[in-house]
Amino acid sequence: MRWTKAKLKDLQGRLAQAYPDAKCALDHQDPFQLVVATVLSAQCTDSRVNLTTPALFARYPDAASLANAKPAELESLIRSTGFYHNKAKNLLGLANALLARHSGAVPNDAAQLAALPGVGQKTANVVLANAFGVPALAVDTHIFRVARRLGLSEAKTPEKVEADLCRLFPREDWIELHHQLIFHGRRCCEARRPDCGHCPALALCEVGQGKAEDPHSGTRFEVRGAGKKDPALASLPAPQTPPLASGPKRIISLVPSVTELLVQWGLASRLVGRTRYCLEPKWIRATVPEVGGTKDPNFQRIFDLKPDLVLLEKDENPVSAAVALTKAGIPWLAMEIRTLKDCLTTWLRLGELLGVQEVAKARTDHLKGLLRSKPRKGPGALTLVWKDPWIAAGPDTYLGDLARQAGFRPLGPEGYPRLTDAELEALDPTCILLPTEPYRFTKRHEAELQKRFPRATVALVDGQAMTWYLSRTEQGLELLRGLLGS
Ligand code: SF4
Repeated sequence: MRWTKAKLKDLQGRLAQAYPDAKCALDHQDPFQLVVATVLSAQCTDSRVNLTTPALFARYPDAASLANAKPAELESLIRSTGFYHNKAKNLLGLANALLARHSGAVPNDAAQLAALPGVGQKTANVVLANAFGVPALAVDTHIFRVARRLGLSEAKTPEKVEADLCRLFPREDWIELHHQLIFHGRRCCEARRPDCGHCPALALCEVGQGKAEDPHSGTRFEVRGAGKKDPALASLPAPQTPPLASGPKRIISLVPSVTELLVQWGLASRLVGRTRYCLEPKWIRATVPEVGGTKDPNFQRIFDLKPDLVLLEKDENPVSAAVALTKAGIPWLAMEIRTLKDCLTTWLRLGELLGVQEVAKARTDHLKGLLRSKPRKGPGALTLVWKDPWIAAGPDTYLGDLARQAGFRPLGPEGYPRLTDAELEALDPTCILLPTEPYRFTKRHEAELQKRFPRATVALVDGQAMTWYLSRTEQGLELLRGLLGS
């Protein structure tokens, strides 16, 4: 899209109307509080920071008191924001530098701000704009994504996106626009599920209208032949004709747990292909042909099997699989499972698509019943999925939601972050879950971690129950609730 002045104005008007409450989300009374809160917000939500700062600022109201803080006491006050060893070190360095270089005051100069310990260019811009009203347009992860989806910038770095935005919009609008774009990214144009159907900027967005690829994921997810394109499974149209008569009869599943689900639902006879990791139930290994791995499917084998539907999952399979199938004119369906609620909607959609609505409904009702019973409130739990390096499953993943629904408080940064030993310790988990899949955690790893975290409960748990969404969701939930004794 070519952004003319009129279109840019139109966009600004739409955002202003949609987000009249857009403002800095970090609570603060003065520049000192804002710069401290911004340092704490790294790898942490703004709402968590806002819960932490009242006690922190009551104890350390200015740079002088913070510079004299005892590290252990400071750490205990900011512990819940994560990575508290490093953050405490940065805050002490920041307070000392403010005293030494600026008599304890926060400077209103971009270069001087950015030179303070723990304060980079982005934090400097946030402080300049919100504490001093200096026009600045700090590009965070939300603005980066939204600007690229809207076609306001094609740049690949936040700094270049910032430069593009500053060129397009009047300087006097930068501060307001900064907040509006962040609100839009959080409330509507989310990373994984942009709510294009309700987006105030849809008329101006080629990605949302399906005319351009999403620069964020690099693809347009769709079901070919269904007559409509849409990135989310939730919006897939229902089959046009009675499913059993015209529904897919030659299905290839590239998702191990979905393969198992199809067998559970009595659809094994329609399965004409599976990946080499689709190993359950065991007898399908001898009866259903293999078509490569989940990450590297053998397309020639898939084409030869002439499927009328290939089932994919966004995290499990690469985008290239969808692209190759699209080119070959083979219908495919991409699911996205991040929560137990996703399982409920996906069961119903699959049930409808495959003509087994009753089985799907019974399963959905059962899980809904399980979710209705309130679990005991459990401790903070960290789920590790890999070693060397440590990789955790964050609160926004399927494993995170499984832990949450079981009663735990899932810990760690979002997604699947790599963690150093220091970062692992900084999270200070009360409980560490070690699923036996995808990494083969064993009793030995359990014992090693128990030694390192003597106060935590370290539990080796059945990896299939934990990670095989859709086919073993209820099993995973009951397993974790069992650990809590609820
Ligand atoms: S239409 Fe969709 S992709 Fe475009 S800005 Fe709106 S939510 Fe984001």
